[in-house]
Amino acid sequence: MENEQKQTEKELEAKTSGQNSKPKTKKCKHCATEIPMQAKVCPNCRKKQNGGCLTIVLIIIGIIIAFNIFIFIISGVLAMLGVTTNDLDKAIDNIDNAMVSEGIIEPTTTTEKEVKKPIEVDITTMFEELDENALNAKDKYENQYIKVSGKVFTIDSDGKYFSIIEPNKSVSFDSIRIRPTRENKDLLKTLKSDNIITVIGTIKSVGEISGYSMTLDKIEQ
Ligand SMILES: [Zn+2]
Repeated sequence: MENEQKQTEKELEAKTSGQNSKPKTKKCKHCATEIPMQAKVCPNCRKKQNGGCLTIVLIIIGIIIAFNIFIFIISGVLAMLGVTTNDLDKAIDNIDNAMVSEGIIEPTTTTEKEVKKPIEVDITTMFEELDENALNAKDKYENQYIKVSGKVFTIDSDGKYFSIIEPNKSVSFDSIRIRPTRENKDLLKTLKSDNIITVIGTIKSVGEISGYSMTLDKIEQ
């Protein structure tokens, strides 16, 4: 017990003395000769011993300067190419749009809010195509959002529908039967027979006898 304690004391003493007593020599940074700790110049090779710390500081400063030069050059090149942050935004938008159309990402709310544009069609062409091949006409027009001009033919007294025919005809079996929605049914009151109007809406059905039927969105007089 007593022995152990003495040994610990000795160890502690050894440690403390080791920490307190500084080494008296060091190795020269250049020729590795054992030289006095205080020596600033190696007695053997005559080279300076201080500057290790300075070297590291200089390297760090050098890296910082090099990095800044690099950023400066890159921004200069981008400016020379006429690339602005606005261009970069546009490029990002284009990538987004491409991804939306490929179904990779969901469209953003701004895209959803965009007003859908109707396909402009000619009423005479619509009926020619229906006469030629009702199946093809159905494929082409059903569920399409279209804009078409015609002459007001009949106006239902209950306000459930009106119909338009080709503008150059006074009577025709070929007609587009147009149904207003609850929101725009008052538009029918503004109509007069034989007026040429332009309607925008969605084609709901196509038949060789019944012709076309459309859900009304807007009327342009
Ligand atoms: Zn030396």
